[in-house]
Amino acid sequence: MKLSPRRMFQFLILRRGLLACGLLLLFPTQLQSHQEAVSVRVEISDGTLDPQLGIVTDRGFPAVPVQDMARLGWTLTESDGRTVASWKGGAPRVVINPDSPFMSWDGQGVHLAEAPYRSSGRLFLPLQVLIDILPWKLPNSFRYDPDTRILTVSDSGLAGGVPLDPVRVVVIDPGHGGRDSGTRGRGGTLEKDVALSIGRALAQKLEADPHLEVYLTRDTDTLIPIWQRGELATAWKGDHPGVFISIHANGVPNSRSVRGYETFFLSEARTEHERRVAALENAAQEFEELGEESLDGSDLSFILSELRNLDHQHWSALLAELVQTQLQNFHPGPNRGVKQGPLAVITNALMPAVLVEVGFLTNPEEEALVSEESFQDSAATALAAAVREFFRRYAAGEEKPLIPSRRP
Ligand SMILES: [Zn+2]
Repeated sequence: MKLSPRRMFQFLILRRGLLACGLLLLFPTQLQSHQEAVSVRVEISDGTLDPQLGIVTDRGFPAVPVQDMARLGWTLTESDGRTVASWKGGAPRVVINPDSPFMSWDGQGVHLAEAPYRSSGRLFLPLQVLIDILPWKLPNSFRYDPDTRILTVSDSGLAGGVPLDPVRVVVIDPGHGGRDSGTRGRGGTLEKDVALSIGRALAQKLEADPHLEVYLTRDTDTLIPIWQRGELATAWKGDHPGVFISIHANGVPNSRSVRGYETFFLSEARTEHERRVAALENAAQEFEELGEESLDGSDLSFILSELRNLDHQHWSALLAELVQTQLQNFHPGPNRGVKQGPLAVITNALMPAVLVEVGFLTNPEEEALVSEESFQDSAATALAAAVREFFRRYAAGEEKPLIPSRRP
């Protein structure tokens, strides 16, 4: 007998069902809690996912482990004790609160008949979420037939009305270069070298991911004009979702004690420190021999008044926060928080963009630290994790993250 792939798939489901029935007969005491296990089947259009749902009825209603959502194609993350499920492409974003019947679907409340609950360290969802809510909210991707009790998951087509685009572009911008050394530590460490080492290591880590297209604005000791960096990034990004990360090390005149790491996104400076760092980083233009094209402070404020990158401000703030969170995992600190400033290099990168200062070269201990290869590798690991987490949350085309980021 020759079975078509679809018939074969149904046959396999049937066999699994019979196997489950057999187990129930062997363990009759389990019958009550597992009787639903054979009654809802999942059909994946391309047949690649496990078709079994782990349904239990411990609490008197059918429920499934939240991991079953991951098996249906959702990405799960934990945040402040809540579980966040994101559909392909990052949207919609569903926030599940244990012991609360209110679920957030792209910021809108959905009232469930029963509350999700934790049991033996695992989170369980009412089956209602899978067979009622998903087909109602995402009819192009989920369909449930109550007669056959088959939940059909379509792996192609549209998700929440947003066409799937698996390619994500990451533009890494090692600061300074060539004639422009950036900040110089008393021990001789040059900012441009630290930035390039971390940038290269970051590119190497991200290139392993087939969905990421990774670009470096420079991978040698050369000077790329500051305005050209964002333009390059925008061209490389094309129509794909993308991010821009400019890597720097900090310096402060007349103080050897200031240390720590901070990440900037583009906005008006609010503090003297933010103004000073923006001026320091924008000063790279002095090395560019642009003559009359060179920009001074008043040009910058004009450009700020119609900054196109401001469209991405909320996402940039989220990216900055994720970078700080990841750096905190290994950096002795202090975490100086997310900052904002009129940074020229970010201005014409038309995508979420940040500038990270990994440490102060004017602090002798931190200068020694950031010039270590192990530090540079850890920094690259942290930035890579921030980029991956960002893309899990990013809904390109939406103005804001669904949960506003906190700013220190
Ligand atoms: Zn710099």
